[in-house]
Amino acid sequence: MIKVAINGYGTIGKRVADAVAAQPDMEVVGVSKTRPSGEAYIANERGYPLYIADIEKKPVFEQAGIAVAGDVEEMLKKCDIVVDATPGGVGKANKAIYELFNVKAIWQGGEKHEVAGISFNSSCNYEDAYGADFVRVVSCNTTGLCRIIHLADEAYGVKSVFSTMVRRGSDPGGIKKGPVDAIVLNPVTIPSHHGPDVNTVLPTIDIVTTAMIVPTTFMHMHVIRMELAREASRDGVLDLIRKHPRIGIVKGASGITSTAELRELASDMNRPRGDLWESCVYEDSVSVGTNNELYLFQAIHQEADVVVENVDAIRAMMKAADTAEESIKMTNEALGFSA
Ligand code: NAD
Repeated sequence: MIKVAINGYGTIGKRVADAVAAQPDMEVVGVSKTRPSGEAYIANERGYPLYIADIEKKPVFEQAGIAVAGDVEEMLKKCDIVVDATPGGVGKANKAIYELFNVKAIWQGGEKHEVAGISFNSSCNYEDAYGADFVRVVSCNTTGLCRIIHLADEAYGVKSVFSTMVRRGSDPGGIKKGPVDAIVLNPVTIPSHHGPDVNTVLPTIDIVTTAMIVPTTFMHMHVIRMELAREASRDGVLDLIRKHPRIGIVKGASGITSTAELRELASDMNRPRGDLWESCVYEDSVSVGTNNELYLFQAIHQEADVVVENVDAIRAMMKAADTAEESIKMTNEALGFSA
């Protein structure tokens, strides 16, 4: 069994913990928090040993009725690999301690590529992470872009990509972020950082991205245009997407034309926390122009799509599955989903 610790049990960390616990070849040896919270109670309830960054705060946790197993250093002694899901920018400071305790580490998209030197997406570059000590799983938006661009590139060759991301203002539990009533160009400059981030996984793709933030909490929406090198048909593209293990098709017949209806669907499917691990491509949006330009809309569940990628990154780094296909299959089956 691969012993996994999760440093930072928040939006991403708690989902990664549950996904790891569901795998037949992995176990959660600890999760960490900085202060008492609803999530800390749940960690206790799930049976995940709870460690804290500052051991002097142990009495504060205990007064709140939350059992503490020790400090983060104790947790690192018990694991083979740590998934760092601390807030963006915090994780890089933890590298020294991971090196000190000689554990492999995975960071998230809020950190820069340089923290690990390998940016990861299971469908694109599993082999780059094979046996590696440090890996960064790219952000939710970059994950969504990488999946579909790589798929199109392998089949048709991608000459260029232009994409606009309409991003959620806050995660559902967030009470300090916005906007409440605005469309915010974020950034106002073009291109946005997302294109260069795609290039950390797919270095040869010519891509320009723009981004804005809107008052919603569930999912990002991508508008994508790809110029293809070889002749493509709408049916051919849809067939490819259907075969991808992490891209789902939102059927036209379902009548779903929004993110709100996808949230309802995910709840009706009894997905844990309403999570959609797969990218959601709207069938009716998929179009191929006369010069082989591919157009589509895809919705990306920001809290969920990177979770399954973290599980595959663990397997790659621990050499527990030789190919991406093998790991993706195991991960998906353990979570009970097929895209
Ligand atoms: P979050 O704020 O929801 O959770 C972070 C957790 O880390 C909290 O539980 C906090 O208690 C804990 N923490 C804070 N400082 C810590 C420290 N010094 N040591 C240990 N734990 C500490 O953050 P999040 O949204 O889960 O984001 C985590 C990472 O995942 C970031 O890099 C972010 O960019 C990335 N990411 C977030 C999303 C998203 O939509 N939320 C999507 C993809 C990637």
